[in-house]
Amino acid sequence: NVAPERHKLSPAVEGVGDGRAFFTEPLRDFSRADQRDAFTAGIEQATVPQVANDGTVEDIDKAISAADAYFPTWRDRDPVERANMLVRAADIMRARRDELSGVIIKENGKCWVDADADVCEAIDFMEYYARCAVPLFTRERMGLFIGELDEQWYTPRGVTGVISPWNFPLAICTGMTTAALVTGNTVVVKPAEQTPGIAKIMAEILWDAGVPKEALHFVPGKGETCGAALVRDPRVAVLAFTGSKAVGLDIIKAAGETPEHQAFVKKVVCEMGGKNAVIIDTSADLDEAVLGVRASAFGFQGQKCSAASRVVCVDDGGGVYEEFAKRLVESTRALVVGDPKLPGTDIGPVIDEEAASKCRHFIQRGKDQCTCALEMKVPDGLEAQIGKPYVAPAIFTDVKPEHDVAREEIFGPVLAVLRAKDFDDALRIANDSPYKLTGGVFSRKPAHLERAKREFRVGNLYLNRGITGALVARQPFGGFGMSGVGSKAGGRDYLLQFVEPRASCENTMRRG
Ligand code: NAD
Repeated sequence: NVAPERHKLSPAVEGVGDGRAFFTEPLRDFSRADQRDAFTAGIEQATVPQVANDGTVEDIDKAISAADAYFPTWRDRDPVERANMLVRAADIMRARRDELSGVIIKENGKCWVDADADVCEAIDFMEYYARCAVPLFTRERMGLFIGELDEQWYTPRGVTGVISPWNFPLAICTGMTTAALVTGNTVVVKPAEQTPGIAKIMAEILWDAGVPKEALHFVPGKGETCGAALVRDPRVAVLAFTGSKAVGLDIIKAAGETPEHQAFVKKVVCEMGGKNAVIIDTSADLDEAVLGVRASAFGFQGQKCSAASRVVCVDDGGGVYEEFAKRLVESTRALVVGDPKLPGTDIGPVIDEEAASKCRHFIQRGKDQCTCALEMKVPDGLEAQIGKPYVAPAIFTDVKPEHDVAREEIFGPVLAVLRAKDFDDALRIANDSPYKLTGGVFSRKPAHLERAKREFRVGNLYLNRGITGALVARQPFGGFGMSGVGSKAGGRDYLLQFVEPRASCENTMRRG
């Protein structure tokens, strides 16, 4: 929970949000009774819209045609007006914050803090992108040369397809959608099949905030039909995707298959998975490391792309590995597996039966290949009561880099603890993954922390703190390698992916 930082608006964004200073939206403080009560009321009040994933390829085709036809109008709209629509949408979300968290809790099973953080991140994205977008459309003079005017500026690209995942069903969908809209692109959103309800609410809020229906189209449907049609349509100029490596790679390939007569090659923004490691050396504060790893590995049941799924602990024979593993197991045992609608719950359900059976498969592989140090139990009757499958936390020790639990993105509450000879060895093991998303180091040695900054090849590195998510503008988020292609979400260059850079050089002697 981070105190809000207030930034002054630069003159270039004057007129956005009536000159208000922004953000970051502070999380709810659930130690306060009034905030707990408001949140409980929000959950009770929340109704998940029933949205059938019955969109068809024809629906996608129609949406793209309409978005394409409206593009010139939206492109030519005053950037300040577009930015203010995002500011208004952020205000609406702020006013409905507890209810929106309730929808997320009921639709995808997040616990309280994670649901609140999802809503706050969506608000932050909109306020931040609103501020970043306006200066892009001012022409910048490049140097001063007599008789010559050199300028650079940006223009919107066209129809943008947004394909979003279920694990941050509001924040990620809002981030991609509004980045495209505020930069003057029209948008077709295809939300995740598991969470179309909260995505529909997002679209309605944006429409209510003034975004024309012609600029934003919402088509819930299946990935293999609607998603694939959006990916392959030659009228789509930008494809913004967050999800699995398999689908992301397919999207990257399809962008290159654009027909030769096409005016553009699709611009692809793909955020994919992770197999994130935390290194613990012999100087680390083990209490801090245990809490950091526990939160990162088991928050939202490990279903975060940023989640720690490997710990690489330096074992120089002094017993640090055993001590860390013991404390981690004890600490994890204290987590409460229960109903996510209740404030005391740490572990809610996983998203669906497919996710549960994937976790169970890897838990079995772990038992076959290494030591199962902890496999928590799901309380009797809980699955029937909630109507969703559960997987309780599992921790494996004596894991070797080649074991399945150390290699595959499981995307559930399953953690592998590996052994390294020294810090060099730990860095080598941690880097031995095609994914390059997040990483962590717990160490009191400045030299180790500096080496990690140079040699730990991840997009987001967390030093002496848990690896969890990212705050918009403070910790721009995103990876490379098999974790994706694209600039960091919530970072200053994210919007540049949605615009075309343009430059002109004019002989000013000929101006009449
Ligand atoms: P997924 O790839 O299964 O689905 C994501 C979206 O793609 C959904 O809307 C789905 O309908 C659609 N889709 C599926 N098949 C498609 C196809 N053939 N063509 C076009 N679209 C298709 O991923 P998921 O299970 O929803 O999300 C979990 C994954 O997302 C994990 O791998 C996680 O690491 C990753 N993720 C990454 C980040 C990041 O910022 N790097 C953030 C969140 C999640």
